[in-house]
Amino acid sequence: PMKQKVPVDLLLRETILLSESEAHMKGCEIHYENFAPGLTVAVDVKQIKQVLLNMMKNAMDAIQDVIGERKGAIEISARPDGRFAAISIKDNGKGIEKRILSRLFDPFFTTKEAGTGLGLSVSYRIITNHGGTIQVDSKVREGTEFMIYLPNVE
Ligand code: ADP
Ligand code: MG
Repeated sequence: PMKQKVPVDLLLRETILLSESEAHMKGCEIHYENFAPGLTVAVDVKQIKQVLLNMMKNAMDAIQDVIGERKGAIEISARPDGRFAAISIKDNGKGIEKRILSRLFDPFFTTKEAGTGLGLSVSYRIITNHGGTIQVDSKVREGTEFMIYLPNVE
């Protein structure tokens, strides 16, 4: 896989562009805030975009399940955290029950009727192959935050 030096801002803007129309159709707003515009990572751009798009899709699915209760929103942000670039994708969707949190990254684990359960397992492998990690924080009926950590470069 080819690694390229790329600003996190560019990765996130392109991800948002690609997700926008689907989000709009699903009545879901996307907000973006970058706390460090200079943040740069060395990555396989195709792979990282795949991870980000997967997360956006999961966020929209989670929002679909509670639509009617509230306006859907996805908040994307980036900030430096030590030697990492920390990217957060936070939704106000249905949230994740504690008892299944530990299985999220297992291949084929899905709670969706037509889910493959591969998005997060593939994403996890991609991010760890880049020397990073993924964390998740969730509250049932409130929402979920996925944090992607990638080593930053000068
Ligand atoms: P799939 O989307 O095909 O189900 P994933 O690997 O992408 O597979 O996700 C696995 C499971 O993790 C989902 O079925 C869902 O239960 C849970 N999940 C992932 N992202 C979210 C999210 N943002 N909000 C709520 N649940 C989520
Ligand atoms: Mg998925």
